[in-house]
Amino acid sequence: MSEVRSTCPYCGVGCGVLLKADGQGGLAVRGDPDHPANFGRLCSKGSALGETVGLEGRLLTPRVQGQEASWDDALQLVADRFQQTIAEHGPDSVAFYVSGQLLTEDYYVANKLMKGFIGSANIDTNSRLCMASSVAGHKRAFGTDTVPGTYEDLDEADLIVLVGSNLAWCHPVLYQRVLAARKARGTRIVVIDPRRTASCDAADLHLPLAPGSDVALFNALLSQIQQRGAADADFLTHVEGADQAFAAAHESRLDPTGLDETLVQQFIDLWIGTQKVVTVYSQGVNQSSSGSDKVNAILNCHLATGRIGKPGCGPLSVTGQPNAMGGREVGGLANMLACHLDIENAQHRSVVREFWSSPTMPEAPGLKAVDMFRAVGSGKIKALWVIHTNPAVSMPDADAVSAAIAGCDFTVVSDITAQTDTARLADVLLPASAWGEKDGTVTNSDRTISRQRAALPAPGQARPDWAILAEVGRRMGWTAGFDYETPAEIFREYAALSGIAGRFGRDFDISGLGDLDDAGFDALQPTRWPVSAARQGGRFFADGQFFHDGGKARMLALHHKVPEAKTGPRYPFRLNTGRIRDQWHTMTRTALSPRLSAHLAEPFVEIHPQDAADQGIAPADLVQLRSPQGSAILRARITDAVQPGQVFAPMHWTGETAPCARIDAVVAAVTDPVSGQPESKASVVAVDRF
Ligand code: SF4
Repeated sequence: MSEVRSTCPYCGVGCGVLLKADGQGGLAVRGDPDHPANFGRLCSKGSALGETVGLEGRLLTPRVQGQEASWDDALQLVADRFQQTIAEHGPDSVAFYVSGQLLTEDYYVANKLMKGFIGSANIDTNSRLCMASSVAGHKRAFGTDTVPGTYEDLDEADLIVLVGSNLAWCHPVLYQRVLAARKARGTRIVVIDPRRTASCDAADLHLPLAPGSDVALFNALLSQIQQRGAADADFLTHVEGADQAFAAAHESRLDPTGLDETLVQQFIDLWIGTQKVVTVYSQGVNQSSSGSDKVNAILNCHLATGRIGKPGCGPLSVTGQPNAMGGREVGGLANMLACHLDIENAQHRSVVREFWSSPTMPEAPGLKAVDMFRAVGSGKIKALWVIHTNPAVSMPDADAVSAAIAGCDFTVVSDITAQTDTARLADVLLPASAWGEKDGTVTNSDRTISRQRAALPAPGQARPDWAILAEVGRRMGWTAGFDYETPAEIFREYAALSGIAGRFGRDFDISGLGDLDDAGFDALQPTRWPVSAARQGGRFFADGQFFHDGGKARMLALHHKVPEAKTGPRYPFRLNTGRIRDQWHTMTRTALSPRLSAHLAEPFVEIHPQDAADQGIAPADLVQLRSPQGSAILRARITDAVQPGQVFAPMHWTGETAPCARIDAVVAAVTDPVSGQPESKASVVAVDRF
């Protein structure tokens, strides 16, 4: 059997893989040497994919109240209960909570059903927890959620700054690319992170800044950019708000970062003295009550110096999930419409409504993830559909979220397994096709659209998500809007809509792919958007053209804000949560690989040696973390990789895999007021030997 070209389902690097089925359910996986994201490289997770495709724990038939049911009965029940709830309580009494694991075609249909036909914007995604602050920052600076640069910029940069990103563990193939650039051209690497991570091993500088002080640090940089005459006066003719941004930066240039002044000056000298700078940022920036401001503080520096949109230059937001970008593009966030059109814009709404022949469309954003689950808990949302994600584990204040879902009048979960903390709370469970079994597209962190292709048959009665969603839409009475038979058909419709969006001055335009027939869709090669008659791939903004009215970018006047929760005698430690190298999200798939599970086999908390001594904690002791929200019990790892007064714990373990170790039960549901993204890296906790 020949190999099938597909894409790794884990992180936003979007590596190409070649799959070869053995005909007995097994799958050999290797890196695709021709894919532009990875050129054949894979990390530990990607190379273990073949170990995770067995049927252990798979959900193979629909279930209603725990009993096996036919698809016909289960889908009719879902359609009836959603219709009944909408009829009695209005469209905002229902919600979808979806995932960056969905393929673009799945996402498109879910968004169309909720926003265009049900008439509510209550669809949000676990990408809210990952990169909503980057979306907000991009929109404020550029007018659209545009990633300006490409992965090739990493190959051509002379300085790469990793901010709040442990790229070595979380986007390993991109990190290999950074190391290759270092070897080839001597690229310098700076890591800005409160914790000393694996990404610091090859760094020239590590700035262990105080949690949440990124705006202060980048304001200090911006202030010196102006004071030392390093701003690009020509490029600033394309930018509004520079004077105010410079003034605010100068005012707050001495705000505390917790860093040695010499170290800060070394960083600033290096940044200002290097023309080709790429600033890579990730969850350490985004997951903050000031995440959007942190993003804009970074973008301010690139705009002020014109280091954007040119080879080897620019800000680069790296997304967590394989299709976080695709979700952003189709409008999977509660505050966006499809194709980067804005839900608050009457003209945009009218264009999409006409294109979809929608009976109704909401005029305001829906509930973002944290508020959505609060509304589930208060009973305002009475019917909830969770698709490929596990909010009972991954949402902040997870115990409250779990209780909210348990108390919801009607909960549907589509997933590949019934063995998640959320699936156990469902009234209806729908078996979905898994990676390796489904067909469609994903978009990675540098706007490259790649195909995911099926190499295995769907087991049992599993179905693709787009087909499940479309069938529910038809059963709710909207036959014409959801009469899809293939993902290619959905992709063509989406591409056609993007062409209309492009005419409204939006960045996202793939109308050049709109005439692909089924064979063309099947053969689609990795392609970076935009793809239109006017524009093909490449970088944005080198020409100084942005997407705000008037065509200019905006720099923002920003001020440092400390994290919302304050440490004190009762909760003296600051808790940082994050990922480890060999697990993915809530371990639904990666835990199936013994090789991956052997890397770090049990939930743990990192604590500084001085703090451990003060608390009487010895290596490998069990330790209890307590916060106003809840508690978790974890194994102590004593290390000076964390600073005194700070602890770090991974986010992966669930009630299924390690009862009492769900770290998000401890994390407060504090959010950024602009992006709605939770502050997952700065909760306050007490730490005691258990
Ligand atoms: Fe998969 Fe990301 Fe690893 Fe690439 S870097 S193989 S996309 S997990």
